[in-house]
Amino acid sequence: MSVTPGPRDGEGHGLLVPLDEARAFVLRSCTPLSPCEVSVGEAAGLVLAAAVAADHDVPPFANSAMDGYAVRAADTLAAPCRLVERGALMAGDAPTIGVGPGEAVRIMTGAPIPPGADAVCKVEDTIRGEDGTVVIGRPVTDGENVRQVGDDIAAGSEVFACGATLSPAAIGVLSSLGISSVRVRPRPRVAVVATGDELVPGPGPLPAGKIHDANRPALLAQLAADGFDPLDLGQVGDDPAALAAVLERAGGLVDAVVVTGGVSVGDRDVAKVVLAERCHDMRWMQVAIKPAKPFAFGMLSSTEVPVFGLPGNPVSALVSYELFARPGLRRLAGSTTTDRPRLAATAEVPLRRRPDGKLHLLRVTARARTDGTLGVRPTGGQGSHQLRVMADANALALVPDGDGIEVGGSVEVVLLDPSGPAAEDRTWPS
Ligand code: AMP
Ligand code: MG
Repeated sequence: MSVTPGPRDGEGHGLLVPLDEARAFVLRSCTPLSPCEVSVGEAAGLVLAAAVAADHDVPPFANSAMDGYAVRAADTLAAPCRLVERGALMAGDAPTIGVGPGEAVRIMTGAPIPPGADAVCKVEDTIRGEDGTVVIGRPVTDGENVRQVGDDIAAGSEVFACGATLSPAAIGVLSSLGISSVRVRPRPRVAVVATGDELVPGPGPLPAGKIHDANRPALLAQLAADGFDPLDLGQVGDDPAALAAVLERAGGLVDAVVVTGGVSVGDRDVAKVVLAERCHDMRWMQVAIKPAKPFAFGMLSSTEVPVFGLPGNPVSALVSYELFARPGLRRLAGSTTTDRPRLAATAEVPLRRRPDGKLHLLRVTARARTDGTLGVRPTGGQGSHQLRVMADANALALVPDGDGIEVGGSVEVVLLDPSGPAAEDRTWPS
């Protein structure tokens, strides 16, 4: 049994691994998965492995932006004026009717602009006569209410770059181009296994000394929320052989493995030992952060699959996931942006701490205030076992080493909730 130790901190600050260094170590090993072709309907949230270009214009033909009358703008200069109605064009019709001088064609939104017409007068500005004429109530200018060919997407242009994540709107754009499949990186499949003799396998009354497993369900949920494909590999006791067997099984099924528990300095912390035996380039580190100081990472030797060894304390497990696993998995997914954005916020209460050589990540509520700035306050106790407080938080506040931040001081936050900060009630602009 050998463990390649990262620097051990003990009481000394200098032995901790800086967060950046630990993250760089992880990201170096996480390389994008091999590309595959998927149907556009299955591509939302995936990352393009090749740029996409438009092979035709969108819109493919000039069409009406309004229900109204296609006209020659020059004919309406003296409006109100009367034009002869030559027929009607619906969305989906071919432009079979032309518009000559003094003429108009009744037209619906999306119908092609007929030959000869260059503008559309909206129906609200017209009065249809009984005698096959229409009164145009006000002049229109050349091109008014006309959607020109290619003014959404020009033929030949690059629509999405390699590395772009496909949003629902992007799926719509691809579909508008008639594209049915795209080259992407597959959604990383990620196994989760929890370790610990104290974990009971299911619900029900707890025997003495036992606890329910919070980390595995939380991580499975987080992986799904982040667009990865989670695989539940259950829990194992603090038994090196059992964990080794699960890791080897996982390696053949998934693109990455997340293990929780057993990476600290306790007598039963076996995950770091098993990772050292089964992985190459394995590092066990004490990272200069609180919570989530212990962390182990390596590549499974048998299958070259990255293994993230997260601490067992539930808050630490989720914070460690956020700082190391999520970015690494996003890289597997081919994304060039691995992190969530960091925003500047203002402390609404003192964010007190003692100097200890570590970056503290506080569980906070970030609230958009009426003046447009973000205010933060802790959601409760900051113990790494206090998961309830994490469940109330929508952000982590990054409090650098030192004595903390006074009320009104500036602090960086990472928003954890993709729907953004809680907002004070505000009406929409009218
Ligand atoms: P460890 O990292 O294994 O030393 O565990 C640290 C703390 O986290 C201990 O109090 C464990 O009981 C707790 N813990 C470990 N795994 C889990 C889990 N899956 N769910 C909830 N608590 C856990
Ligand atoms: Mg343990």
